[in-house]
Amino acid sequence: MKNVAAPNTRSRKGRTLSIVAPCYNEAQGLPLFFARLDAVLSRADVAYEVICVNDGSRDETLAVLLAHQQSDPRVKVLNLARNFGKDVALSAGLDAAKGDMVVPIDVDLQDPPELIIDFICAWEAGADVAVGVRSDRHSDSLLKRMTAGGFYRLFNAIADVPLIRNAGDFRLLDRRVVEVLRLLPERRRFMKGLFSWVGFRQVLIPYVRAPRAAGTSSWRYWRLWNFALDGFTAFSTAPLRVWTYLGTSAAVVALVYAAVIVVRTLFFGRDVPGYPSLMVALLLAFGLQMVAIGVLGEYLARIYEEVKARPLYVVMDRYGFDDPPA
Ligand code: UDP
Ligand code: MG
Repeated sequence: MKNVAAPNTRSRKGRTLSIVAPCYNEAQGLPLFFARLDAVLSRADVAYEVICVNDGSRDETLAVLLAHQQSDPRVKVLNLARNFGKDVALSAGLDAAKGDMVVPIDVDLQDPPELIIDFICAWEAGADVAVGVRSDRHSDSLLKRMTAGGFYRLFNAIADVPLIRNAGDFRLLDRRVVEVLRLLPERRRFMKGLFSWVGFRQVLIPYVRAPRAAGTSSWRYWRLWNFALDGFTAFSTAPLRVWTYLGTSAAVVALVYAAVIVVRTLFFGRDVPGYPSLMVALLLAFGLQMVAIGVLGEYLARIYEEVKARPLYVVMDRYGFDDPPA
């Protein structure tokens, strides 16, 4: 990835920072999160706002957020009408953010708020995107690390844009980058891919990812699998096109085999048995076709979702914002 310094440097003086925090069932962890975030922001020497997006939590998250919002006018709360998922909650927050710099952050303290200071310094040095990269993933299970590694390898082999390994949503985005992100209309938002698609000057900043401070991760393997499918379908057409080549190879093998049979029959006479090989060939062809149709279905379902063009999220209430909803 590029580590190019900009010709001119910037200053945080007179600029504003927006923190965007999607929250789903985080009532337990929020006090700790605010304590650490406030400690960092108070020494960041920059004007800021904290936009908390309550993503349809079923616990006391909203009450905790509102209590904090009452005591600190820099905190703003966006209450979504139901659970829309982290990527969409993040987009809602990006739409509401007004800052010259925007930092999405998880509230479970897996993204250390202290890194925000480094992000701002990188921004001042010319970076449009300062990306937090996990330098080790020991807090994840071996299985998770292995599947993540496989995912990155496969994705970077077939997709249009490269993904930065072990980078999440924790990063600083310059206002220009946010504006481009907001132009992307897709409903299935594979944020890692969208961040990469946007481009701009990126600087990588390593950090150690802590285990969750409280509560449980809402990611299960089935969801991770679907998340990976979203990534592949959004940034690659290879799964669709590979069937042309698989089909051609199968046909070539079949033709060669047919020629072998003809020659063998001519020279050695007829040889009737062959039921097992017939079954294998049939089942293989049938299986391949079903998979191919399934892949078509994955893309078709996503196209269907996009053409319905429903709004990305529904905001139920806004607290602490002084501007009318866009
Ligand atoms: N989150 C959300 N909506 C969801 C799931 C999660 O807004 O449907 C938030 C959650 O509150 C947290 C962040 O997204 O601030 C990351 O969630 P989590 O810790 O479950 O994900 P992981 O760290 O395992 O990737
Ligand atoms: Mg987490």
